[in-house]
Amino acid sequence: MTEQERRILRVHLAGVDGMCGGCRAWWGRLTPYPCWQVEWATSRQARRWTATVLGGRG
Ligand SMILES: [Zn+2]
Repeated sequence: MTEQERRILRVHLAGVDGMCGGCRAWWGRLTPYPCWQVEWATSRQARRWTATVLGGRG
């Protein structure tokens, strides 16, 4: 995981109301969790894991 992905996942956490706390804190936006930034970071991870399983270079 890159530092950028780690930072996103550390900040963008689900709030008690189901909205993303990171988006609210950073931009004052109410975004349903998971927001697109979390989707982006987790999909990058998933691709890397798949590549590792298949013996690719990731
Ligand atoms: Zn967010």
